[in-house]
Amino acid sequence: MFEPEESTKQKCIILQGKALCVWQSDADMFLEEFLHLDGRGDYTQDGCVCGKEDAIYRCRDCHGCELLCCSCMIHIHERQPFHRMEYWDGTYFNMITLNSMGIRLQLGHVGSVQCGNPIPAFNDDFVIIDFNGIHEVGLDYCGCGSAQPYIIQLLCIHLFPAMTINPKTAATFRVLDYFQMLSFESKISAFEFYSTISRLTDNTGIRVPKNHYESLLRMMREWHFIKQMKRAGQGHHPKGIAATKPGACAVLCPACPHPGKNLPDGWETAPPDIQFLYALFLTIDANFQLARHNVSSNIVDPGLNHGYAFFVEEQAYKGFLSSQERSIQETSTCSSHHAVNFADTRVSHSLAATGADTIDCAQHNFKWPCSVGDLQKGERCMMYSGSKKCPNVCPLSCICIMVSQSVEI
Ligand SMILES: [Zn+2]
Ligand SMILES: [Zn+2]
Ligand SMILES: [Zn+2]
Ligand SMILES: [Zn+2]
Repeated sequence: MFEPEESTKQKCIILQGKALCVWQSDADMFLEEFLHLDGRGDYTQDGCVCGKEDAIYRCRDCHGCELLCCSCMIHIHERQPFHRMEYWDGTYFNMITLNSMGIRLQLGHVGSVQCGNPIPAFNDDFVIIDFNGIHEVGLDYCGCGSAQPYIIQLLCIHLFPAMTINPKTAATFRVLDYFQMLSFESKISAFEFYSTISRLTDNTGIRVPKNHYESLLRMMREWHFIKQMKRAGQGHHPKGIAATKPGACAVLCPACPHPGKNLPDGWETAPPDIQFLYALFLTIDANFQLARHNVSSNIVDPGLNHGYAFFVEEQAYKGFLSSQERSIQETSTCSSHHAVNFADTRVSHSLAATGADTIDCAQHNFKWPCSVGDLQKGERCMMYSGSKKCPNVCPLSCICIMVSQSVEI
């Protein structure tokens, strides 16, 4: 018999409540098993299945809790160098790295083929950040005659180097991809994500790994940038990233009118009474509270995007603002319109930006390409055409309705 949706929902809630009540009566059994697993579990025998050595090693990331000897563990993990190991000291399990067990990561050769001329990484203390922890690994580059550059050798096994000269740190593609996906769904910061990985490495606070947060931040930015360029098709352009057109990486609003894409033939000559069907509605607004402190510089922290997506190209934008420095804002006749009236007096000391202005499509809230700029002073109205160099995204070929404009410099 068909049940109304509401009653099914109610039934579900009651069932969930019952399940929790039943689980409560079994909670002691769970606790007991957790303690059992903290020890050797069901692996009470001393010898390894190979019959050669004692079974005292356990992997926290492999399926199951099997205890094996050192040789068997190394054999299993030749292709899993980022698993976390523990060894049994007779009383409890201690953490141990695969590096200290003798596993080395060989680059430049397929499978378990050993290189005839392995070259250890710089200082031989390579660190790899994965989503389950920060791993110290022994890493050897291939030194054969046909060997690729070190950076390519790292990228070939899905490791993203933190530096291009003598890298000592890398992140797996997996962890960078994981954070990117997580950032789409959650509000977790890069610092919180790094702290989580650090805790997974050691949650006792006794063996806290060396801080690699700055390196991870840099790798994440580079990862996002490379992904963006790949999706924009710049990898197939003969001149590469340098030939990226302004706004080419922006995601355009699919519902707004785009000549040549989603407008019928002859839309330009439509009768006046139906011209509104092909109009583009834009809003221009600024946030005057979105201040950014002047804590860095372009030399220390250069931007990677140069007007490729939503922000305007910075040099041209700043140049335009400097050229308007001497112009004085006309006083507003509106009652108490302080944002305009204090345009030339607003304190911008120690701030890199006093706010941000942006152009959105009014109906669907999509950012327009090359439409976001940092504000530098109090509110002052003037026109800056950030999209004048990108005719492919400029709305001038549409019937354009500007709802509001309020640009602050
Ligand atoms: Zn494992
Ligand atoms: Zn064994
Ligand atoms: Zn080799
Ligand atoms: Zn739109």
